[in-house]
Amino acid sequence: MTRPSHGPEAHPANAADISTPSFAALGLIPELLRAVADQGYEEPTPIQVKAIPPILQRRDVMGCAQTGTGKTAGFALPILQLLAQQANTSLSPARHPVRTLIITPTRELAVQVEESVRTYGTHLALRSAVVYGGVDIDPQMKRLHAGVEILVATPGRLLDHLHQKSVNLSRVEILVLDEGDRMLDMGFLPDIKRILAVLPPRRQNLLFSATFPDEVRRLAKELLHSPVTIDVAPRNAPADLVSHQVYPVPALRKRALLVHLARSRDMRQVLVFVRMKRDANRLARQLVQDGVAATAIHSDRTQAERMQALEDFKQGKVPVLVATDIAARGLDIEQLPFVVNYELPHTPEDYVHRIGRTGRAGLPGEAISLVSPDEMRYLEDIERMLKRKLPRASAPELARGTRPGHRPKDGTHKRPAERPQARLHAAPRPEAPAFDYTKPYEPALSGPPARPEHARPAHRRPERPTAALLGGRPAKREPHK
Ligand code: AMP
Repeated sequence: MTRPSHGPEAHPANAADISTPSFAALGLIPELLRAVADQGYEEPTPIQVKAIPPILQRRDVMGCAQTGTGKTAGFALPILQLLAQQANTSLSPARHPVRTLIITPTRELAVQVEESVRTYGTHLALRSAVVYGGVDIDPQMKRLHAGVEILVATPGRLLDHLHQKSVNLSRVEILVLDEGDRMLDMGFLPDIKRILAVLPPRRQNLLFSATFPDEVRRLAKELLHSPVTIDVAPRNAPADLVSHQVYPVPALRKRALLVHLARSRDMRQVLVFVRMKRDANRLARQLVQDGVAATAIHSDRTQAERMQALEDFKQGKVPVLVATDIAARGLDIEQLPFVVNYELPHTPEDYVHRIGRTGRAGLPGEAISLVSPDEMRYLEDIERMLKRKLPRASAPELARGTRPGHRPKDGTHKRPAERPQARLHAAPRPEAPAFDYTKPYEPALSGPPARPEHARPAHRRPERPTAALLGGRPAKREPHK
């Protein structure tokens, strides 16, 4: 096997001004080049350009990247290459020892990462498995017993396997901690420390995180040796493709405003965030009563309910999906045009995570926040982190609406306030009457029921296996609020 032709020196970790090299120029082997071509990837994303060469050089990496940037291929491709280049020729019982361990905070992300590993490794003879909690452990034990080189796991279930001695991590060469900030938010630090304690001390470590609060930095300091730091967006700043709008609105008027926005802005696929899981169900139910087809996803729902909710949303059958932060983590929903913060998160990092659901894959997105007076302090925290004031939407804009369904395909999509005046004055649809959120809620505002059959299919690429994706019991640490 050839060594990579370009190392980090040729593609400096922080160089932003070089033209995009091809996957081949990053030094990937033909089997992987075929796999990315199979996926229709034409060129590497910025995180891939920056991450692949140093990982191939066995450097530790600290990557500041959100889901949706192509980060999974950014680490999976070079890992596959490193493992393939040094194939394990041992015929001992540990024919397929775990050589790479990838830890993720949620089972949804674990399933998606393992699927990506399998997809990119399709032309290589490497095995992978995923283990996560909330489902029967026995099939996972059988799979592990058969041997895998790459194991993707959530921390709790991995510890279960360690206790049951169904997995041996003494041959791990590469450790990946994905979504490090979320992992610490969810209280997984003690579990991670227990896992680190059974890994061989000499190994390559990769830490990815969308944000870098102090706890993540501390973990990075302990874990990483002379890491290459890569940053695909300004630190703690969300993608440029996302436009932000803040609607100051009394809490009791939020629902009516959401209904109005969903109609007047022709929102065919919108992820709506609430903070507490009990509110997710209630809001979805109320939206349905208001005539807007909606469903909820949160960790108290059964596996079948969550699967159904996500499927309906992905297929475009239900345009509104109400979610809590944790339930939405790791959901791979492509090209989501709108995210609505029905309630602001209490930590600015969560805002970044939430709106990371939109503005993906080079397409523009809108992050709309409905902010009641008591939430203004959270808005200030967010603005402080983003180092800018987010634009406030005005009542006249609300009243006039925007041209329904207008979303240019050329990437020039702008906030309504930035569009030409003529469009701002376009006649509202009959079901989108002028909205005055200073007046009490009137049921008439809700208009006729939404027509989900008009919704476009949201997903153009092959579906991921949602049965596994949404498997089992409620997520371990969903806060009960
Ligand atoms: P991730 O950030 O790893 O969750 O990836 C987000 C999405 O981008 C996934 O659906 C990938 O299939 C897709 N993707 C990853 N790399 C590329 C690429 N180089 N070109 C186009 N799409 C990509």
